[in-house]
Amino acid sequence: MRASSLAFGAVLAVSLLCDDATAAKRAQPRTPAPTIVVTADTRLLVVAPHPDDETLGAGGLMQRVREAGGRVHVVYLTDGDGYPEGVQFEGHVESPTANDYRGYGRRRRAEARAALNALKLGRYSYTFLGFPDGGLCRLTRQYWSEHRGAYRSPYTRLDRPPKGEVVVPNSEYRGEDLTQELARIIGDYQPTIVLVPRREDQHADHCAAWYFVADALHDVKRVHPDFTTDLLNYIIHWNSWPFEDEEDRHLPTPPGLRGGASGWIEFRLTPAEQRAKRDALRRYVTQEHVMSWFLDGFARANEVFSRPRPPQTVLPARRNLCCDQ
Ligand SMILES: [Zn+2]
Repeated sequence: MRASSLAFGAVLAVSLLCDDATAAKRAQPRTPAPTIVVTADTRLLVVAPHPDDETLGAGGLMQRVREAGGRVHVVYLTDGDGYPEGVQFEGHVESPTANDYRGYGRRRRAEARAALNALKLGRYSYTFLGFPDGGLCRLTRQYWSEHRGAYRSPYTRLDRPPKGEVVVPNSEYRGEDLTQELARIIGDYQPTIVLVPRREDQHADHCAAWYFVADALHDVKRVHPDFTTDLLNYIIHWNSWPFEDEEDRHLPTPPGLRGGASGWIEFRLTPAEQRAKRDALRRYVTQEHVMSWFLDGFARANEVFSRPRPPQTVLPARRNLCCDQ
């Protein structure tokens, strides 16, 4: 029988390959793990589709920027007011009215202010844009321009941001208006880091947030050709991640999702940063009532980020980019 010598040959070949691979590995200079550079000059812009996303995704990173002497600005695209289960629970009503939804949005805005306060960010600022919760993906295509009426929220019955939340005069619930508002904020604030959800995020508002920011950055570049920024992604909704092992203090990277152009960035939090992040999340009382397990899933020892490839401008979209997710 030649089987044993064949097997030996195979083992030898494999071990030679392994030796070659090990030698090649040793010869190669180690690629440093991707990181985020934070200094006193850092101007971080966090784009949150809903109140709580900023703390879930970047409660630690925001504190680190403060610690370095940098600045933080959070822009909330919606007030998180299109959440029937939450409104029903808080109002003890089966069929909430438009006023119930608007009141819920005001409450979530107040919680966001309390959460940012709990993070003790020093010099920070925020903007609530008041766009429609659950409706952002529709603005990427069907409700892009004034060729048709503005989108009307089925919850609040509003078709434009509340007066106090308008950045560009006469903005309504149209995609090009949201792009313009974001471009105005980015152009004025000149962030050195822009943090926005990944396009693969399975919540349609989060996915749409990516496309609006990409579109706004393109507009900013037209007006400020020298503008550059470190574009970073975070992710909140990805199958059942990160809840498989709630005992694990380490936040794993989302399974089956690549780390973008940079590879995953695992951003470790100090014990004090973890405590403040947990404390800030507790300020989201309405969300703690209905999904504390979800919030707890992100109160871990690290946060995960990635860098995308340079964004292509695709708005207005020719097909559904996010709505079917
Ligand atoms: Zn969200």
